[in-house]
Amino acid sequence: MSKTIAINAGSSSLKWQLYQMPEETVLAKGIIERIGLKDSIVTVKFADQKAEQVLDIPDHVEAVKILLEDLLKHGIIADFSEITGVGHRVVAGGEIFKDSVVITDEVLKQIEDLSSLAPLHNPANAAGIKAFKDILPEVTSVAVFDTAFHATMPEVAYRYPLPNKFYHEHKVRKYGAHGTSHFYVSREAAKLLGKPLEETKVITAHIGNGISISAIDGGQSVDTSMGFTPLAGPMMGTRSGDIDPAIIPYLIENVDELKDAADVINVLNKQSGILGIAEISSDMREVEAGVEAGDEKCTLAFNMLVNRLQKFIGQYFAVLNGADALVFTAGIGENSVKVREAVVNGLTWFGMELDPEKNVFGYSGDISTVDSRVKVLVVPTDEELVIARDVERLK
Ligand code: AMP
Repeated sequence: MSKTIAINAGSSSLKWQLYQMPEETVLAKGIIERIGLKDSIVTVKFADQKAEQVLDIPDHVEAVKILLEDLLKHGIIADFSEITGVGHRVVAGGEIFKDSVVITDEVLKQIEDLSSLAPLHNPANAAGIKAFKDILPEVTSVAVFDTAFHATMPEVAYRYPLPNKFYHEHKVRKYGAHGTSHFYVSREAAKLLGKPLEETKVITAHIGNGISISAIDGGQSVDTSMGFTPLAGPMMGTRSGDIDPAIIPYLIENVDELKDAADVINVLNKQSGILGIAEISSDMREVEAGVEAGDEKCTLAFNMLVNRLQKFIGQYFAVLNGADALVFTAGIGENSVKVREAVVNGLTWFGMELDPEKNVFGYSGDISTVDSRVKVLVVPTDEELVIARDVERLK
């Protein structure tokens, strides 16, 4: 019995999914939230059942212990020896990791050293890795990098127009993110298009709390909207996305509570984007409800998001010199009929036309009309499956 766990560790959360491999059957999944705070919430779903408990979990090691105990407690596994692989999502792999890799002590140190490229994410990913190594030291663990899929970007796309030495000496370049998602949905899109992957050109729009748009030519990433860090691109749930960099020193000079660059970056990461404009929430469901109720701030946030998405999608039509399909994925991309409608209805010049009977909640696949020259696809992403498959490939 070969079972693989895919782990996505955030700073205060740990999401997991347990697979039977190579069958790729999901045996159980869950999330531990509020790690390090009081009243952590542990949720486990398996075989149509859902178990939830609230307890204090001080750190990731304790979270992993609880997760593994839960697997035994609920009879999902009979013994830890059934777990033969653990795959960890890691956000930043820098220029070092162009593919997934078996985690050694050296790899773990490199992941920690890359924290400056993803300060919110890499330390949490490393904490998850260490917690599993502590408890299951014999089990192969694999790191799957969000950046690896974008390693194929050409230099014209990944370089910033800064003095060369900043790239050569400091590795300042575009790395991108959400790679496993763009990888997965671009492959599923080729199947839906009925074309060999090598002959497809698609624009993938991962629109969730974090947002990134990618241009994918023949299955390879050639450009993407996230940059040196996951702060770049269209506006996101709480992240500003691209802004004029001159705003940063201006804010430090003129806003009392912002003392230094770290203060401003914190605002750009956590208090901006949809939240900054709508104010009531970063959650698109609440913002859409606000739009319905005539709330002006929510309406502006919705319209600004649509505007930013359209501009990036338009850019990538240019980068690819035309595309076969636009692919929507992640929380908003998969579920928000209104965002898809607003985005696509403003891009009809590019040859896309939505079928209103298919652009409905719960439908996935081709949502464009038969006459639509460029197809519009909804593909539920599955980053955990990509992680589990990479563990299987490398262990
Ligand atoms: P993710 O980061 O991929 O989990 O996506 C989270 C985002 O998806 C949040 O902004 C949610 O509000 C949004 N979302 C989830 N379901 C819906 C829905 N039915 N309609 C609109 N937005 C949704």
